[in-house]
Amino acid sequence: MKEINTDILIVGAGYAGIAAAKKLHTAQQDFMVIESRDRIGGRTLTEDLESGVTVDMGAKWVGPTQHLVWEWIKETQTETYDTYDQGKNLLKFKHKISSYTGTIPKIDPISLIDLGIAISKMNKLSAQISLTEPWNHPKAKEFDAMTLATWMEKHIWTAKAKHLFEIGIQTVFAAEASEISLLFALFYFKSGDNMDTLISIKNGAQQSILKGGTQGLIKKIAASFLDKIHLESPLVRLSQQASGIIAETNKLKIHARKCILTIPPVLINTIVFEPPLPQQKAQLYQRMPMGAAMKVYLIYPTPFWREMGFSGQIVSDEYPLKVTFDVGHADSDQGVLLVFVEGNDARNFIDLEEGARKKMILECVEKIFGHQASMPMQYIDKCWTEEVYSRGCYTGLMGPNTLTQFGHQIRVPFKHIHFAGTETAEKWCGYLDGAISSGYRAASEVLKETL
Ligand SMILES: Cc1cc2nc3c(=O)[nH]c(=O)nc-3n(C[C@H](O)[C@H](O)[C@H](O)COP(=O)(O)OP(=O)(O)OC[C@H]3O[C@@H](n4cnc5c(N)ncnc54)[C@H](O)[C@@H]3O)c2cc1C
Repeated sequence: MKEINTDILIVGAGYAGIAAAKKLHTAQQDFMVIESRDRIGGRTLTEDLESGVTVDMGAKWVGPTQHLVWEWIKETQTETYDTYDQGKNLLKFKHKISSYTGTIPKIDPISLIDLGIAISKMNKLSAQISLTEPWNHPKAKEFDAMTLATWMEKHIWTAKAKHLFEIGIQTVFAAEASEISLLFALFYFKSGDNMDTLISIKNGAQQSILKGGTQGLIKKIAASFLDKIHLESPLVRLSQQASGIIAETNKLKIHARKCILTIPPVLINTIVFEPPLPQQKAQLYQRMPMGAAMKVYLIYPTPFWREMGFSGQIVSDEYPLKVTFDVGHADSDQGVLLVFVEGNDARNFIDLEEGARKKMILECVEKIFGHQASMPMQYIDKCWTEEVYSRGCYTGLMGPNTLTQFGHQIRVPFKHIHFAGTETAEKWCGYLDGAISSGYRAASEVLKETL
């Protein structure tokens, strides 16, 4: 086994790990990064398809208040374009198709009022939650004892409003409302400004798309220190002594003074720690499962729905299709329809053969856009639950009794080990921006202790 000495070891080359590396590189520190995969980017993965279209199979969008991602975009002079958002959106509910404009589908007035009140209540409650210490809210224990589904049962009366609210939740969390603690959901909404921002295109989390993709951006940022990144090097054991750490991968033994761990919480307990993690920290990582989302891209010779006056945005109650977006450039010749399958639907759908999956998705879009929709040039899908080094997406979630009992452990270092990753972020937790801020924070902690 090859032995290496470095000052600071970063584990994981996703946005958090590369942000930490960038800060240490600028501060002219001695560091190295180990990454289990054969590529950098983690939960970002950009593919150039034969058709000439570039698609993000992982993270795609950047919202206007995700300032740290915008700093990287500007620094690398990366071009962006707005998500296509013109024309009529479509709602398919109980076999009926109706059109609407804006974020909220056109439904009967009573359901519409019901839905509006529920979203407004969520925004009001989440505005009261501290991003630093959400567990200190006067009603934290009460909110953390119930799931978001329980709250919905109590506060949303009409079936249609409940259904649309649930689709919004599945789209934001890639999970079911019954899996998520109310307190965690409130924290998450506040972290991303509010619920409206998280579900919106204009002025929301789905506003802008990067030319060259989000993995393209991280590759540009890492270009000046690529020699410090060791791929195909999964950390398996992390020992600590008075003077520092010893990290072991399948082929390396690394001695360092400090370590920044950026891997998803669900994977932390797969590492052998010597001495073991403090029990509250270990228990926290047993309680942060990943959501499940599938991205399906349908590539067409033209964005034919635009000529029909449609935006390409669909909200549907028909399994497996939940929501769709037109993610092609406004001037692009080809049509790029992005379909999301979320939560339990994704967990079930990925178990089918690819041919069956394609058939079901195409049947759904054909019912909405007609025969042309059943003949894409290309079908491509991906489910992140199959990724060994992610185990799901978009982020680690918290069910009841997690944030109040264990949440305070999320950013606490353990001797020489510091913890980053989007799940540790206060602002934009679960998103690229949160990953960057977490990497910068952990690097600052380490610099403070080593300089
Ligand atoms: C389908 C999908 C859609 C998304 N959409 C968006 C979006 O539109 N906008 C947005 O802002 N965010 C989105 N996200 C979320 C975003 O991708 C994540 O918040 C962000 O990439 C997390 O970065 P990270 O560095 O914290 O974690 P990761 O990207 O998970 O990085 C952790 C790294 O650690 C590595 N690793 C794991 N185990 C080990 C080990 N034992 N040893 C060494 N290395 C290890 C992993 O391979 C990985 O590279 C999406 C995610 C997915 C999957």
